[in-house]
Amino acid sequence: TSPLNVDAIRADFPILARKAASGADLIYLDNAASTQRPDQVIEAVNLFYREGYANVHRGIHTLSEEATAEYEAARQTVAEFLGAGPSREIIFTAGCTAAINTVAHSWGVTNLGAGDVVLLPISEHHANIVPWQQVAARTGCRLQWLPVGDDYLIDSQVVADALETYQPKLFAFAAASNTLGTEYPVKRWTELGHQYGATVLVDAAQAAPHHTVNVRDWDADFVVFSGHKACGPTGIGVLYGKEKLLDAMPPFLGGGGMIHLVTRDGFQPARLPEKFEAGTPPIAQAVGLAAAIRYLQSIGLDRIHHHEQQLCQIADKGLRQIDGLTVIGPAPQHKSGIVSFVVDGIHAHDLSQSLDLDGIAVRAGHHCTMPLHESLGLAQTCRASFYLYNSADEASRLIDAVKTTRDRFLNRTSRRRRV
Ligand code: PMP
Repeated sequence: TSPLNVDAIRADFPILARKAASGADLIYLDNAASTQRPDQVIEAVNLFYREGYANVHRGIHTLSEEATAEYEAARQTVAEFLGAGPSREIIFTAGCTAAINTVAHSWGVTNLGAGDVVLLPISEHHANIVPWQQVAARTGCRLQWLPVGDDYLIDSQVVADALETYQPKLFAFAAASNTLGTEYPVKRWTELGHQYGATVLVDAAQAAPHHTVNVRDWDADFVVFSGHKACGPTGIGVLYGKEKLLDAMPPFLGGGGMIHLVTRDGFQPARLPEKFEAGTPPIAQAVGLAAAIRYLQSIGLDRIHHHEQQLCQIADKGLRQIDGLTVIGPAPQHKSGIVSFVVDGIHAHDLSQSLDLDGIAVRAGHHCTMPLHESLGLAQTCRASFYLYNSADEASRLIDAVKTTRDRFLNRTSRRRRV
């Protein structure tokens, strides 16, 4: 794969030209929380609102028909992006969280009962934990956890053993951890899950934006991701489900758009995908997401992945050399663009605030993975996450800024001790 032309890519992202509050150049390394958008996406949404907007699937008038055609074309773009079958396997939701909640409150509540098990890695995002806790409270099913090892990895043998021991009805896991950065072997784990009779949900929030995903190659039953982590708009996410499963599931939210017929006594749901899209859907957001996907594809998902791995390697290697710093995550070959770390004696929030003075935006906290942090005996970590518009120079400046911050803090502490 040929290297990315980062300067040319950066020119597409207007926000990257602005300065941080301190006046320093902005170094945006919080991409696992949300990415920025290129002009191509901003303009596509802008143009749609200016020239093509109306509600979808409702009017017979020209604008509504055009908007509907564009909305459905966006669905087709997503289907092809994910390697799905027919586009009715793609449900637009408000985000990754809403997509998982749809599966939990529709498939979960229907298929899980007292004593049934949902198997989850301990490294899951709260979005793939809390909905299952809610379903557990309703149905009496229970959650079982896969621990991460000392190397921050989860061995596939540990997965197979847990599947054999607990016989879960659902095995739900992130394709990549938003805190550790680990890329899990999705195809292998899905195969194992199916071998033991589990339905498999893959949270691709940190995968679909960063490398080629093919849901049919994975053979996963459900796959979800969010638009805003893939250069797309906020307020849109995707639920992919195998048609047979989606067809058998009851609708989650009720309202306009998701019905075939309503009488005083009840309703008949619409067919896929409308059955799961109650109310006015995120229309302009879908148009923006399709533009984001086209943008990422024009650069090449494999090139993007390679680029992120290189930046991750630079950051991981440099950070590990800093005294008192511990990288919380596996060796770089097991992860893509995420490096989390802690520094002895410095609170993650202080570290992040100090980096902000150098214009560097990183995340500090539990990153919505409290059970993982608890299992590692940590309250919070700092997380740098890279994307296609970050440069090797930015990775180096992160290392330098963490070093400087550490020295500044330690000098202050030792001076205080001397007094
Ligand atoms: N899963 C993972 C792995 C994530 O990183 C995130 C976002 N941090 C989510 C789920 C939730 O996504 P959203 O907030 O867009 O619904």
